[in-house]
Amino acid sequence: MLDIIIIGGGITGLSAAWEAQKNDLSFALLEKENRWGGKVHTEIIELPEGPAIIDGGPESFLTRKPEAWDLAGELGLHDQVIDPGGETRHMYILDGGTPVEVPLAPVKFAKSRLMSGRGKLRMMFEPFQPAKKDAADESLADFVTRRLGREALDKMIGPILGGIYNTNPDTQSILVSSPIMREMEAEYGGLFKAVIGRVFAARKNKAVETEKKPRFGAFSNGLQEMTDEMVKQLNGDLRLGVEITKIEKEAEGYRVVLENGEALSARSLIFSTPANVTAKLLENVDKESAKKLGEIVHQNIGTTTFIYKADDAQTAIRIHGLMIPRREKRAIDAITFTSLKMPSRAPKDYVMLRVFFGGSKPEVAEMSDANLQKTVQGELAELIGITADPVQTIPFKWLKSFPQANVGHLERVGEIEKTLPEGIYLAGSSYRGIGVPDCIQQGRQAVKKVAR
Ligand SMILES: Cc1cc2nc3c(=O)[nH]c(=O)nc-3n(C[C@H](O)[C@H](O)[C@H](O)COP(=O)(O)OP(=O)(O)OC[C@H]3O[C@@H](n4cnc5c(N)ncnc54)[C@H](O)[C@@H]3O)c2cc1C
Repeated sequence: MLDIIIIGGGITGLSAAWEAQKNDLSFALLEKENRWGGKVHTEIIELPEGPAIIDGGPESFLTRKPEAWDLAGELGLHDQVIDPGGETRHMYILDGGTPVEVPLAPVKFAKSRLMSGRGKLRMMFEPFQPAKKDAADESLADFVTRRLGREALDKMIGPILGGIYNTNPDTQSILVSSPIMREMEAEYGGLFKAVIGRVFAARKNKAVETEKKPRFGAFSNGLQEMTDEMVKQLNGDLRLGVEITKIEKEAEGYRVVLENGEALSARSLIFSTPANVTAKLLENVDKESAKKLGEIVHQNIGTTTFIYKADDAQTAIRIHGLMIPRREKRAIDAITFTSLKMPSRAPKDYVMLRVFFGGSKPEVAEMSDANLQKTVQGELAELIGITADPVQTIPFKWLKSFPQANVGHLERVGEIEKTLPEGIYLAGSSYRGIGVPDCIQQGRQAVKKVAR
């Protein structure tokens, strides 16, 4: 009998396995697909002038949440971490069909046509808004409207955060998507006050900081470098292409039956599959939890990377990223110019851009690759004037796999966890944060609970 069977070999499951290995626990890691990493998926395309490195899912990670940076260190990969650059420079929002720059500097803000004078004034009154007194959850829309005004939500913050989380700000939980904003409010009484307070605090801390790290990290050969390295260094029972047919309760733990008839037993199970998948796997063991897990909504999401000869992809303005709010009713949600943000991702004579879809029109993620390419090309022509054919396109699609954390999500997850049968643990993007550091933290935390 094993100590743990981990189901799902994305970054969460792999991190759980890594933690199990560090704690000398015996484990098996079962993955349905024929590759490790889940949404962490890098493709390297050899072009005549050199390689193009394409991340289909996550491309970079925050280092303020330390888990991804720390794991990279444990794996001996710190020298492979690159700074993906200022993520906020040359960012645009589509407004009435036209890209308008996100005004982050005071003068640009004053001159910007993105918001009306009244909307800007309301934003500037943010320091005088009372802070929320209780810890209850609220939607991203309610938080932003309360502090910065409705126009800031509709025109600026909603499109940016809604785009990042591929979600509707009116339903998205602030405590899952941007807990930092609530922490800033609680600690300093407001966002502007917190920005100033944190700058002073950071200056003070600089003297004691021992480790230098970028604000965001990426990997020189794509984020899959991290999952590949983990797989290389893991020495438990790792299985790809495994179909689980049944999970049963046993006297001392659980029995996982595989399609080939083989069965594995363990004292504990960690599910690092999306909650809608976990719901089906758990049906036989705990109907009630399975039902509640099945209620967590998962959206379609996808990206497609277009590689162009540089001369074919010139735009009138320098754009690093374009966020497309849902009210614009376009087929795509965002465009990022990967080769401008990270020039090492493509040879010099090429432009590489990545298009996100699935949020405003979920059906786009279900199109054939050929239709997807045609649709995206149409959008690129209309929105930023790129009409040439790309040299290559590389699509990635995840159907019903991107969790939507609605208001009250953390409470619901807490309730599910409380009633789960002994020895069963949940971890991953469906629960306590979708970012790569959140997933690593949850995978490792689940094993720490088992070890206890
Ligand atoms: C397009 C995109 C861009 C993103 N960008 C960023 C970013 O820049 N920075 C950031 O921090 N985060 C980003 N994220 C979020 C982050 O990538 C994900 O939340 C995270 O990778 C999820 O990891 P996971 O292991 O929890 O889930 P997954 O990666 O979904 O892994 C779950 C695994 O379970 C497997 N599985 C499914 N069913 C079964 C079964 N029955 N039996 C066994 N295995 C099964 C799946 O095949 C998969 O490998 C992005 C996500 C997407 C989609």
